[in-house]
Amino acid sequence: MQGGIKIFLSIAGGWIPQSLLTVVTRQSFIFPFYHTVSNVSMPHVDQVYPVRSHARFIKDLDFLTRHYSPVGLEELRAFRKGGKAPPKPCMFLSFDDGLSGIYDIVAPELKKRGIPAAFFINTDFIDNRDLFFRYKASLILDRLEHINYSPAVTERFQSIYQLDRPSRRCVRDLILGVNYRNRTELEEMAKLLDLDFTAFLKVKKPYLTTKELRELSEMGFYIGAHSKDHPLFVDLALDQQITQYRDSLSLIQQTFGLTYGLFSFPFTDDGVAKSFFDELSKEGMPPLDATFGTAGLKKDPVDFHYQRIPMEMKRFPASLMLKGEYSYYLLKSLFGRNEIIRK
Ligand SMILES: [Zn+2]
Repeated sequence: MQGGIKIFLSIAGGWIPQSLLTVVTRQSFIFPFYHTVSNVSMPHVDQVYPVRSHARFIKDLDFLTRHYSPVGLEELRAFRKGGKAPPKPCMFLSFDDGLSGIYDIVAPELKKRGIPAAFFINTDFIDNRDLFFRYKASLILDRLEHINYSPAVTERFQSIYQLDRPSRRCVRDLILGVNYRNRTELEEMAKLLDLDFTAFLKVKKPYLTTKELRELSEMGFYIGAHSKDHPLFVDLALDQQITQYRDSLSLIQQTFGLTYGLFSFPFTDDGVAKSFFDELSKEGMPPLDATFGTAGLKKDPVDFHYQRIPMEMKRFPASLMLKGEYSYYLLKSLFGRNEIIRK
């Protein structure tokens, strides 16, 4: 719904120059984020979010660097300290989930252009040790499409999961409805389709390895944590949130010898209480520079927490995505609705 409004606004306000929107909204430090880039289909991702092609990604980078100076951690620290907007519009780019396309395509393109970026990693998945539960759901849906939702299989789904009908829609909704808490159900569903996640990980190697991450870090890219295994934080108790945060960030820092700390919330930080952020500066916690959400162009009361702009919706180009974000920001500013409230 919100995405639809943003796209409508970006089309309606297409004549407004990007530079004017930046000035009017006074939002001159932005945080665009992606997952990965690929020219081939990615069965583990395709069913859950759209992936940028190589050509489209380059077009996005061209647009972004035309309007924003790419900056790194130093500028981010200065921005936080002073709290003032930088003299020139700038962006801090990041990528979530630690997929292998980062090493093969993204990093070489960024390096060529001198664009700094942070890569946020789920520590349980490094070296292809396990697969994000949403990627498992995507693989199951991909397999079902391949067998054209054969009646024999959909009827088994109907009887086991007591679906209203053995229809494509019902089976699809069931699979996409599996959440972090009941994620082991996906293992059972995979068995019904002779789908082997371990074999997929071994053969396709969808994730970055420790060696690749070390190389990326040595190239000057930032490595940050994205939790251990990608839960929805609002569904966790505070102690579980802390464990996911602390264990993943500490492991990243120890493995790669990092003195800085960056963390991006898996899915969203929506509903994460102020008490969680208060815990992060307590004794025994890993060093931290910044945490990141996914709410788009929005102010956050936590002074080290930045909201990022998701760039991959429906394969729309960066120009349209940003125009939508800025126009939506302007619209909400009329009602004073641009600041996140944390209880
Ligand atoms: Zn993620």
